[in-house]
Amino acid sequence: MKALVYAGDRAVRWTDVSAPQTSDGEDIVTVLAAGICGTDLGAVRNGRPPIPVGMTIGHEFVGRRERDGALVVANPILSCGECRACCEGHPHLCEKRQVLGVHRPGAFAERVSVPKRNLSEANNLDLTRAAMVEPIATALHAWRLSPMPSENVAILGAGPIGMSLLHVLKANGIGNITVTDITPERRMLALACGADCVAETANATYEVVFDTVGAVATRRNAVENVRVGGTAVLVGLHAPEFAVAGGPVVAGERTIRGSFAYTPDEFRESIDLAVSLDTRWIAKFPFEQCARIFSELVAGDADPGRIKIHFAIAN
Ligand SMILES: [Zn+2]
Ligand SMILES: [Zn+2]
Repeated sequence: MKALVYAGDRAVRWTDVSAPQTSDGEDIVTVLAAGICGTDLGAVRNGRPPIPVGMTIGHEFVGRRERDGALVVANPILSCGECRACCEGHPHLCEKRQVLGVHRPGAFAERVSVPKRNLSEANNLDLTRAAMVEPIATALHAWRLSPMPSENVAILGAGPIGMSLLHVLKANGIGNITVTDITPERRMLALACGADCVAETANATYEVVFDTVGAVATRRNAVENVRVGGTAVLVGLHAPEFAVAGGPVVAGERTIRGSFAYTPDEFRESIDLAVSLDTRWIAKFPFEQCARIFSELVAGDADPGRIKIHFAIAN
């Protein structure tokens, strides 16, 4: 079967790989649509997270479970169920975490094997929205880790997570949402999808600021624009380090909170949240073009108006 694999040296290859075999506790899923995530790009671009050469990448997808033909989405995080994080109800932080498309073959392939318990039916969704359940879950988790104010929130970055977060905030009825992005196309799309205000960078005081980019500059921007006693939630993972002024954090009792992935419950909740997603910022391409499109994104010369890219894989 065809798959998009990591070829080493910042490159990917669309190639033939062996199809998954049925095994205990797992289901084979025929992949219908799969989305490119910042994690996939970071892995190929700079080895964060590291992935082995030859690994099939991709973890945001919808497909048909071969056993019964149900439309399913997969929580791509496999956890051990025994470590401290798992026992305390944070399986997404499992010490032995395995992620589809990072540690084991992922979804940019015609078929993928997934543990049965990680699959949820999504018959209420079209393919585009179903393939967005995973990023919406990431956004929902970030929201839940914040103090969840009723208004006056900033989202830094109108990328896939920023736009998913905008959707989650709108669905929760949150007022006065500012979205920042350096590209005008993305600011326009954020406005069209319900942002109350857009700007290049945050330059006001908010209850909560979400940094979905993770650049050194946006992390600093998040901390510097949150109110005294407020919370900056860091979601993006672009830069390995961060540097913020200590004064505003200490003397303003500001909280800096990391947010990663989602719990299994939040993943399942996101299936219903996806129903009303505005999808005008998502573009779909045939699977045959995946290597070229992915390489353009790695090189940073893709159309910024296509915030999210999906591949149509099987029919
Ligand atoms: Zn993702
Ligand atoms: Zn564990």
